[in-house]
Amino acid sequence: MSDCLFCRIVRGEIPSAKVAESASCLAFRDIAPKAPTHVLVIPKAHFDSVLAVEDGPVVGDMVMLAQEVARAEGIAEGGFRLVINTGADGGQTVGHLHLHVLGGRGLKWPPG
Ligand code: 5GP
Ligand code: ZN
Repeated sequence: MSDCLFCRIVRGEIPSAKVAESASCLAFRDIAPKAPTHVLVIPKAHFDSVLAVEDGPVVGDMVMLAQEVARAEGIAEGGFRLVINTGADGGQTVGHLHLHVLGGRGLKWPPG
């Protein structure tokens, strides 16, 4: 998936505002933030979506890095939302698995 947008970000071919990193995952700011804090956590390895994940550790790693991001961004105490949009109806627009970390304001429920 050499032409995948987020794979290119992992390789540093496209710039991103990095927030945090672990051995398996990268966290960077969303280019079009939907909340005061809007960070994307992605596995460095390519998965088309959450449906392509065959075992738990990669998703666990993503959640652990999201937890670190939430604390570092100061939104852990007030609350935040983790979202994985999947497929057309789920609103997925980039075909590399990513976890949205959204916070810094009251978020409405249900989502649109
Ligand atoms: P999705 O809609 O697939 O759940 O989320 C994709 C997200 O990637 C969107 O929120 C969009 O703003 C963000 N995005 C798209 N292209 C880029 C980019 O080149 N850099 C960054 N940092 N975010 C991007
Ligand atoms: Zn990719």
